[in-house]
Amino acid sequence: MTKKAFLKLSSPVQYVKGIGPKRALYFKKIGVETVQDLLFLVPHRYVDYSTVKKIKDLKINDQATVIGRIQTVDVQRTRMRGSMIKLVITDDTGALMIRWFNRPDLKKRFQVGDILIASGKITFFRGMQLVNPLYEKIEDEAEDFSVSGTIIPIYPLTEGLSVWDIRRTMKIALDSCLGEIEETLPSVIRERHGLMNINKALKNIHLPETLEQASCARTRLVYDEFFFFELVLARRKINSRKQQGLAMRGTGMHTDKLMGLLPFQLTNGQKKVIQDIADDMARHQPMNRLLQGDVGSGKTVVALYAMLIAIENDYQAALMAPTEILAEQHYLVLDDLLRKMNIRSLLLTSSIKGKTRREAQDRILSGDVQIVFGTHALIEEGVNFHSLGLAIVDEQHRFGVMQRAALVNKGINPDFLVLSATPIPRTLALTLYGDLDISTLKEKPPSRGEVFTKIIQGKEKKKVFSFVRQELERGRQAFVICPIIEKSERLALRSAKEVHHEISTAFPDHTVGLIHGRIKNDERMKLMNAFRAGELHILVATTVIEVGVDVPNATVMIIEHPERFGLAQLHQLRGRIGRGSDKSFCYLFLSTYVAPETFERLTYFENNTDGFLLAQKDMKLRGPGTILGKRQHGLPDIVIGDLEDDRQTLDMARDDAFGIVKEDPGIEKKEYGMIKKRLDTLTRREQLLRIG
Ligand code: ADP
Ligand code: MG
Repeated sequence: MTKKAFLKLSSPVQYVKGIGPKRALYFKKIGVETVQDLLFLVPHRYVDYSTVKKIKDLKINDQATVIGRIQTVDVQRTRMRGSMIKLVITDDTGALMIRWFNRPDLKKRFQVGDILIASGKITFFRGMQLVNPLYEKIEDEAEDFSVSGTIIPIYPLTEGLSVWDIRRTMKIALDSCLGEIEETLPSVIRERHGLMNINKALKNIHLPETLEQASCARTRLVYDEFFFFELVLARRKINSRKQQGLAMRGTGMHTDKLMGLLPFQLTNGQKKVIQDIADDMARHQPMNRLLQGDVGSGKTVVALYAMLIAIENDYQAALMAPTEILAEQHYLVLDDLLRKMNIRSLLLTSSIKGKTRREAQDRILSGDVQIVFGTHALIEEGVNFHSLGLAIVDEQHRFGVMQRAALVNKGINPDFLVLSATPIPRTLALTLYGDLDISTLKEKPPSRGEVFTKIIQGKEKKKVFSFVRQELERGRQAFVICPIIEKSERLALRSAKEVHHEISTAFPDHTVGLIHGRIKNDERMKLMNAFRAGELHILVATTVIEVGVDVPNATVMIIEHPERFGLAQLHQLRGRIGRGSDKSFCYLFLSTYVAPETFERLTYFENNTDGFLLAQKDMKLRGPGTILGKRQHGLPDIVIGDLEDDRQTLDMARDDAFGIVKEDPGIEKKEYGMIKKRLDTLTRREQLLRIG
């Protein structure tokens, strides 16, 4: 096919004039493979040329956009092993300095004489300057960039593509394919909220005449995204309510015993949540409940309580965890208690093989074993339960919807409980987890030490080491976290192996262990046990210990390359300390230059310990995927909408979606034809995931 040929929505972007295989790859990186994908690439902002300022009119702290010609391009090394690129641009009224830090790639982009539009906050450093501004280059001087009132879309930038490339490609795509996108929202809904049709929305999002137009177009697209997201949830909810489940009423036979065995009293929060769960379990419909609570809020004992209710009713219970370490820990900690209650449990992970595995499978099938702890191994073929009454998934965001369904399918409509350590505010949770009932643990168990967090750079490290030594001498233990195991060519990061060496040298009087994903399991179990028993004083680890690991005597954590982690993940890591009653300390070691946004994120983390706030902020910064689960959550993506800023649209879409499913569960009415069609496309995608 030649590039002259007619473009279709399904044509690869490569067929667009001017896009070769190389640029097509760059487009792929931002999720654009076809012309249709391209049309749905939404600008993240617009430059309104009528608000462009002359350089002489700029004031410090202004949020401003300027246009100027590049006079000089300079690259310098900075003290923190980074680089800085420095431009001076001028317009007919003055000169302005622009700097970018650690973007050596940009050097090739700029040439003296280029015309640049840059927006950002004006600051002062030996004169007015813009640091790390949003920018775009106007390559073609003939472009009339000074026409006032022109709104120019700015697309998310990516390596290899300029805003200009995207805009030019978009123009061609719009010219040949606009009008061909199929409407997804029936007119009843569009009229109700004054939403424009899909083709008009796409035109106005890319070529708006006013900001107002662009914003209305965006609302239409955001509504669309939220609506189908909520519709899938609404359908799931209705389907699960229809089923007949097991009614299990607690007898107290085991749970009373548990209360006597626990070294602590349940908090009121835990009691309330247990009541929610017990009520659900007693009903004939299967339970579908999410228990969310900050790290360390005590979800495990709640899960255990629920499992005991199932056992009191002669059913089995299963707890699936995302990592072997976590599954092993659940087993180690709980099996002790369970033995005292004469309850039989076992552990099943993929590294349990051969004869042991066959025996385990037999015991699960015969019903001899009552509680099964495990990883994904639980959902493999060949694992069959005698009578699974309760399925629990820990750290639910680590699992896809298919994996959760696979566990549930090991029983016949068993009760289902998912645990999440990235809690979000209730109203938002109701919207995002619309198919589940929600319980939230707000308070933490009493007498928890607080965690002090600090960003550390350069020489401060020595001081921190001597402080860590003091803590160790008091009998405390420490974690050191690294993002990668081994040194890599590609990433200039300190690896766990290097750090292990450094720490062993710096703490010659203490025992230092190293644990990561490539260590064999029995070895890893030994290491974890040694750490739990206090024989190892310091544990250097990758994020294999991110979730759930519970060693209350550990009071110090050092995180190397904290810039590599998102807020929710940092919070999970930090959740490994502060589990006893002593004060704990978390140090973020910065060893390279980081972008201002990153520093801001780390500072936010330094000043906040509330998991609800951190999860919300993380969602804001990185989209809901990190909280909802990355892979295969089985829901349409939310890429355009913002859960906070577009809250009103989200609520609207939710009400509509749940309303429609209530009125017409099969979505069979003629007027909803286009909804049904879109939903079928989404469902097909879900089925493809199931096979893949
Ligand atoms: P998470 O919610 O992160 O899974 P865990 O269930 O692992 O938290 O609990 C964290 C720690 O708190 C464990 O050591 C657990 O024994 C302890 N714990 C749980 N509930 C209470 C309570 N009511 N009082 C005191 N300690 C508790
Ligand atoms: Mg847990």
